Amino acid sequence: MNFSDSEIVASILGDSGYDRVVEASAADIVLVNTCSIREHAEERVRKRLHQFSALKKKRPGLVIGLLGCMAERTKTALMEEEQILDLIAGPDSYRHLPQLLEEAGSGRQAIDTMLSADETYADIRPVRLGSNGVSAFISIMRGCENHCSYCVVPSTRGQERSRDAVSIVGETADLFRQGYREVTLLGQNVNSYAWSAGGKVMSFPELIGQVAEVSPLMRVRFATSHPKDMSEDLLRTIAAYPNICRAIHLPVQSGSNRMLDRMNRKYTREAYLERIRAIREIIPGCAISTDIIAGFCDETEDDHRDTLSLMEQAGFDSAFMFKYSERPLTLAAETLNDNVPAEVKERRLREIIALQQRLSLASNRRDIGKSFEALIEGTSKRSDDHYSGRNSRNKVAVFPKAKDGPGSYVIVKISGATSATLLGEVV
Ligand code: SAH
Ligand code: SF4
Repeated sequence: MNFSDSEIVASILGDSGYDRVVEASAADIVLVNTCSIREHAEERVRKRLHQFSALKKKRPGLVIGLLGCMAERTKTALMEEEQILDLIAGPDSYRHLPQLLEEAGSGRQAIDTMLSADETYADIRPVRLGSNGVSAFISIMRGCENHCSYCVVPSTRGQERSRDAVSIVGETADLFRQGYREVTLLGQNVNSYAWSAGGKVMSFPELIGQVAEVSPLMRVRFATSHPKDMSEDLLRTIAAYPNICRAIHLPVQSGSNRMLDRMNRKYTREAYLERIRAIREIIPGCAISTDIIAGFCDETEDDHRDTLSLMEQAGFDSAFMFKYSERPLTLAAETLNDNVPAEVKERRLREIIALQQRLSLASNRRDIGKSFEALIEGTSKRSDDHYSGRNSRNKVAVFPKAKDGPGSYVIVKISGATSATLLGEVV
């Protein structure tokens, strides 16, 4: 999400005549795009700012700005604490950056943290930053109104709004013409996508169908789905298009109904497992990944064991796993006690990670001997002689370079696996 926002910012500033430089030391302006989802993310931003303050001492004219969720959350407070900041812009203020930069350049503090009910940056064609030229992100919605009790996003990114479908399909077609072969449609809860035009409302299944029709050679992925809104209609649409990838990210957060209720997730363990069953029935072979939070308020050993058993039952192919981090002004911070001791959170997280590694390894080992179509993304990080690509199920495969290069589809026969990667060769 943030990466996609940085690409929008790069486009707005490029249109106003600003150039990008590779090293911060060569820049006249440094903008830091920030995330507030966990305390750790904010701590990293502060460290970064302290590094830039050394740069500013050497070059007092340097303008330093903070963008995104942390800017929205802390507003002027951070500017008071971190004297080096000249500019603060929230996630809906990027169109004003050229004016804000002028203000900051003339020595005034520039601040805009107004959230909007309708800004989607629909007409802005993002500048692809650090792209492999093969896969790109397309933001289809902004904001979130689910109010999961632990989550800061609804307050930092505001009201949910859907982007004009015509601009999404147009951006996909442009990317295809430029040689891209994979797009990921992004939103906090893509299943609630609803775009009204001509008296009709377009839903996410309709949108993803239109995106998939841009070309059968364009792979389509999406993130994130909320389990309460994961419809059969969407599953049937995925099944109908071979180029919509067989991989669904369905964050469960916890396997305990008591925790899910406290988290305000609006589904039960049973309802979640029922969604998993529907995915497996309608899209056989679909990979399923998830997000899990360890040590949420009042979590007992029984609740924790419920999470472990749900993981086994669901048989996740991969997962993002976090320790609960209390965020100011969330429902949980205001009404619940962050009462699981740090060492207990850490131990539970370790157990969750160990189990997931076992599940991921088992899932990858089941692929040994099979052949998959992989989209080549580029040279493997570990070896110049190997390419790395992904299959439809979002698994990374590494294989010796053959005649086809990045952006090509090849069939790879899998001969080995770790918990993170498949190893094979082009057949
Ligand atoms: N909108 C998406 C994901 C948003 S944030 C969704 O609902 O699935 C990505 C993940 O960060 C969440 O799924 C959750 O697992 C984690 N997360 C969010 N707030 C957190 C917090 N306060 N502490 C720890 N993890 C958190
Ligand atoms: Fe946060 Fe829940 Fe919205 Fe995801 S759905 S962004 S976890 S409030």
